[in-house]
Amino acid sequence: MKALVYNGPRNVSVKEVADAKIEHPMDVLVKITTTNICGSDLHMYEGRTNVEAGKILGHENLGEVIEIGDAVARVKIGDMVCLPFNISCGFCMNCERGLTGFCLTLNPGTAGAAYGYAGMGPYSGGQAEYLRVPYGDVNCLVLPDDAGEKENDYVMLADIFPTGYESTELAGVKPGETVVVYGAGPVGLMAAYSAFIKGASKVMVVDRLPDRLKLAEKIGAIPIDYSKESPVEQILQFTGGEGADRGCECVGYQAHDSEGNEQPNLTMNQLVRSVKPTGGIGVIGVFVPEDPKASDKLEKKGQIAFDLGLFFSKGLKMGSGQANVKKYNRHLCNLIHEGKAKPSFIVSHQLSLKEAPDAYKHFDAREKGWTKVLLKPAE
Ligand code: NAD
Ligand code: ZN
Repeated sequence: MKALVYNGPRNVSVKEVADAKIEHPMDVLVKITTTNICGSDLHMYEGRTNVEAGKILGHENLGEVIEIGDAVARVKIGDMVCLPFNISCGFCMNCERGLTGFCLTLNPGTAGAAYGYAGMGPYSGGQAEYLRVPYGDVNCLVLPDDAGEKENDYVMLADIFPTGYESTELAGVKPGETVVVYGAGPVGLMAAYSAFIKGASKVMVVDRLPDRLKLAEKIGAIPIDYSKESPVEQILQFTGGEGADRGCECVGYQAHDSEGNEQPNLTMNQLVRSVKPTGGIGVIGVFVPEDPKASDKLEKKGQIAFDLGLFFSKGLKMGSGQANVKKYNRHLCNLIHEGKAKPSFIVSHQLSLKEAPDAYKHFDAREKGWTKVLLKPAE
């Protein structure tokens, strides 16, 4: 089969590789019809992880079930399914509590497994013609009969829609509250969208890329350009000097200052200043335990200089981690099915698998108009 393979920093190519196949009686084999490039893939693309050469990337996958293992009881051949980016067993202590992003079975020695990702186990990604799905009954979200028609919406259930939603959960967003989201990438836009779904009274989105801020504005958020004026000052102005009730971190360790230089602690400390006393912060942007290629001395060891004193004195709360996609994907799926949510508003490009290496280049440069790339390997 054909698949997008990581060769080294800023070097990916589409290669002929061994076909994905059923390896265990609980596996399901999926023919991929849509697979997205994610901002998380860019950490690997830029050589800022320990991902090994030869890895097939792709963790935002949707497709048709074409084969099932002997022990698969629920999922059927022909089902259209969306796969949470976290692969989980469903029976460990964490999965039992809905914390499927921290499955203890599938990536022994750590908590959490995923398709095609650094440090998340030996699983191949879905930027390919076919994908092996372990524990198929647990990991397949079987889609309703409008799966074909709304495919570009449903594919967002693999990662960014539940992930954006989870950042609002970690921050504790409740109806009527004010919310600030740092980052207007796909995840930040989904966080803002989710905040509105939860009934936020005011949502502010911080970025410096005009096309992304425009999308934030389109869904009713207040765009905040951090390259023009301090984002903290702007947020204080929009909240009567108090700060927002809740803040979502949707940028991660590769945050940039207004000149475009990387500064890993930037958004975290700005959040501490942007959120009002006793408020909550949800950190869904990725921070890594070590980052040897970073120029920042602390960041090399996976550390940041964090304003803990101010965080403490304001009595703020914080949650973080990989999103537990399965905890939310069914309900968010219902919103799409009933026409109450349309996360495909962020899609900018639909391309073939062949075009993926070029798409990585454009998306990585955060080029104007490249907000979300969907690959269609079956077309
Ligand atoms: P992206 O790279 O497309 O978007 C990041 C955005 O942040 C960009 O638009 C960039 O301009 C903006 N940005 C950079 N510095 C900023 C700053 N100082 N202030 C405000 N905005 C700034 O990525 P994405 O796909 O939207 O993902 C965002 C983050 O979420 C990444 O770190 C990604 O790895 C992470 N992620 C986490 C999970 C999870 O489960 N925790 C899942 C998916 C993605
Ligand atoms: Zn992703």
